[in-house]
Amino acid sequence: MTEALNRQALTSLLRRSELRRLLEVFNDGDEETRIVGGAVRNALLGRSVTEVDCTTTMLPDAIMERARRAGFKAVPTGIEHGTITVIVDGEPFEITTLREDVETDGRHAVVHFGRDFVRDAKRRDFTINALSLGIDGQLYDYTGGEADLAARRVRFIGEARIRIREDYLRIMRFFRFHAEYAQGEPDAEGLAASGAERQGLTILSKERIRHELLKLLAAKRAEETIRTLADHGFLTGLLDGVAELGRFERVAADDRDNPVATWRLAALAVMVGEDAERLREQLRLSNDEHRKLAAYAGLLSLLKTRTLPLEAGAIRRLVADHEPEVLGIVLAATAGEPFPVVHDEAREAIARYRNGTEPVPVFPLRGADLVEGGVPKGPMIGEMLAQARQAWLAEGCRTDASYAQELLERMLQQV
Ligand code: ATP
Ligand code: MG
Repeated sequence: MTEALNRQALTSLLRRSELRRLLEVFNDGDEETRIVGGAVRNALLGRSVTEVDCTTTMLPDAIMERARRAGFKAVPTGIEHGTITVIVDGEPFEITTLREDVETDGRHAVVHFGRDFVRDAKRRDFTINALSLGIDGQLYDYTGGEADLAARRVRFIGEARIRIREDYLRIMRFFRFHAEYAQGEPDAEGLAASGAERQGLTILSKERIRHELLKLLAAKRAEETIRTLADHGFLTGLLDGVAELGRFERVAADDRDNPVATWRLAALAVMVGEDAERLREQLRLSNDEHRKLAAYAGLLSLLKTRTLPLEAGAIRRLVADHEPEVLGIVLAATAGEPFPVVHDEAREAIARYRNGTEPVPVFPLRGADLVEGGVPKGPMIGEMLAQARQAWLAEGCRTDASYAQELLERMLQQV
């Protein structure tokens, strides 16, 4: 199956004024600079291009020097690999000196700077990632990338097994790019080589795995690809635990327009609180990501043991204590499981809390209200508030002023 590629988009890309100015400055005399990789790929697919990487015959020092002379800000973001970020009118571009690998050990490569576009293309991972575009609109394809892109096929450049042994992260990248850009089954050679070299993933840094896995989880065809990973025995090692494919698929179907990798990870890999702790370490999660997984685990345990059906009132009580978003994710994940049982009106209520059309109820009393009513400051205040909050939850989380007043009076009468 082949689909037309959008060559017109390459012309539009080259008309962007910041990019044009950049390319004019860096194509001069004997020096040549081209757009490369993801920007060319995405333009041809008619997708939006947000990051533009360039590759050049110039050496890093010369890039810095020429950028300064042209009045562009230049930041040596990865100078040891030959990468400089050049900022034109606020827009950053990564410019990297042409490279060739001279030595690889499965995770790092020793690179030499070169002046050869063909060798630079051949050290890249997949044919669809190795296309380059000259300032004059010429598309350079040294590896058959255009045909693979038209066929929506992710294929290694050269022999898959050899390329994987140079850098085992390419196994993860193979599945990640397949999930985002391909149609049909994964390329058979790439799949077989990935399976055969699977053990190599264990030598990689957690940060590199994390980056690719989170991108994969949010990719267009994440569900099918995660299933392929499971079928071929990758998932247990990657997650260091069991996977809940059904929950993952339900959450992914639910958030398709706005995928959130962290929630998808929660649905896939979190069953109990301990999973959130393990994944934090395993995938070097940020505090915020970890907090989300832990909140998911907490609500999941709470709801899985709930035998009473959830109606709208129960949802109101739940969102008083838990973020509506987490609740929505847990309910999406467990839809179709025997517990919890959720009424339609409850699902509608949760949608309203999530999109903000119905405000989350906020407990209406403060310690100061009790003090004003004559309760002495001290531990009693906390106890009374906790008791009032229990009553408030049991009575439907009302937030109107008359209810708040009545609740306060009831509490004060007890003293
Ligand atoms: P994205 O839109 O996901 O950023 P991208 O194509 O820009 O897509 P990056 O991971 O940013 O992907 O890498 C930029 C380019 O560098 C790739 O297109 C590929 O040509 C090359 N590349 C990156 N990582 C590797 C690798 N591990 N092995 C070989 N080539 C790589
Ligand atoms: Mg990129």
